Amino acid sequence: MIKHALHASSFQQMRSLFAETHEAWRPGTEVVASYKFTGGSLEDLPFGKGDILTIIKSTRDPNWYHARSAYGREGMIPANYVQKRQKVSLQTMPWYHGKVSREDAESLLTGRMLGSFLVRENGHYPGDYTLSMVIADSVIEHYRVLRTNNKVEVDGGDLQFDTLVELVEHYEKQADGLCTRLAEPLRKTGNNFTTVDLKDFERGGWVISLTELLIGEPIGKGEFADVYKGTYRGKAVAVKQLKDRERAAQTFLKEASVMTSMRHENLVQLIGVVLGDTIYLITEFMGKGSLVEYLRSRGRTVITKKNQINFATDTCAGMSYLESNNLVHRDLAARNVLVHEDGTAKVSDFGLAKYEEFNQEGGRFPIKWTAPEALRHNEFSSRSDMWSFGVLLWEIYSFGRVPYPRIPLVDVVRHVERGYRMEAPEGCPPEVYRIMNQTWKLNPHERPLFREVLEMLNNLRATTV
Ligand code: ADP
Ligand code: MG
Repeated sequence: MIKHALHASSFQQMRSLFAETHEAWRPGTEVVASYKFTGGSLEDLPFGKGDILTIIKSTRDPNWYHARSAYGREGMIPANYVQKRQKVSLQTMPWYHGKVSREDAESLLTGRMLGSFLVRENGHYPGDYTLSMVIADSVIEHYRVLRTNNKVEVDGGDLQFDTLVELVEHYEKQADGLCTRLAEPLRKTGNNFTTVDLKDFERGGWVISLTELLIGEPIGKGEFADVYKGTYRGKAVAVKQLKDRERAAQTFLKEASVMTSMRHENLVQLIGVVLGDTIYLITEFMGKGSLVEYLRSRGRTVITKKNQINFATDTCAGMSYLESNNLVHRDLAARNVLVHEDGTAKVSDFGLAKYEEFNQEGGRFPIKWTAPEALRHNEFSSRSDMWSFGVLLWEIYSFGRVPYPRIPLVDVVRHVERGYRMEAPEGCPPEVYRIMNQTWKLNPHERPLFREVLEMLNNLRATTV
């Protein structure tokens, strides 16, 4: 690569330093540009700051890679101008106690050392927090922590923070207006409250500028968001706009952070987030909409046996990937599977998704899709996702009917626990109905793994015309 000898020597030094500290990137790795690169020769791939590039292959020079841009252009890129796209992980808040009254907070802190503290929900101002801490021997002070415009601040303080974690970290370093520095977190055992740091999206290369986004017609409504069709860098995208940034922002961002670490052809891919006055989540555009709507609107006349087995196998492949990453979806249903223009089905809606270790926290569940042990004891696992997958199979083969027709919602679990199971939908292949019944075993351990069901479905797909 003769042309590289043309670069300035300081640049050469920088590059060799880089080569020593850097692990080789494999084909398919996504990188995000830290600087603008204009390119010195025709072989080079010029790019702007913030562009996402995909590594095609390494070269003999560890400082240069062959890469592709989002527009499909290919060429050489200097490795030290880009960084690997990082996943955004959730931060834990061991000192967060959730809904705890003032009295209970005081009895928890009484007798503890100076600077012991906890954070709890503010009982008087929903959405705000209270920082309770020991400021002198047996004296406990409660500070109101305001949450405004996606920031948090101690009432009367003059500093704002993106997250509670940052606020706590700051006051652990210095009192800065509090009676004393935060010294000793009172940990809540079994606590799995987490938070997302907006800066991690920035650092990880996931932030998109609103100016690069064209927002078009509305295409759907979600619980926390309105969904629009949009265009980003020439590609059709779905734009989910958060409705109420104060309350749902964290939930919304947790969904996004889960998506940053998941990449599979049968999972709806996150493209990026816009973090401004309004938060947007940008995902790949799924032109045929939700699977349940697709099944209902096309029906028996349009949808073939081959389409059905393809939907089932695609969904199972996406779920098998989640299973191998210990991620529990908790809301698998045909309404949360989307269909790409090319007919591929992809799992979406990671709003309730959680890593296997965290799975308490009460909530409203889609009763007809949720396994009995999850409904009764909050025991969510890949095996409870498997139960939901069985219901989803039933939806596919009944062309989008609502499960357990004729059974009132409140009676479903009771019926199921007594052994009632849905009948095979008309025309459903016996092999598929056999899988459904395996997924609906009361004992979760008797249900198959997604990996196993994927193999069965792949075999079936191969013989379905
Ligand atoms: P919620 O988080 O409340 O479940 P969804 O993500 O399911 O919201 O979005 C609501 C609706 O918007 C979907 O049912 C679908 O019709 C549409 N939608 C969502 N994401 C996409 C996408 N990537 N492509 C096309 N349509 C989408
Ligand atoms: Mg949904």
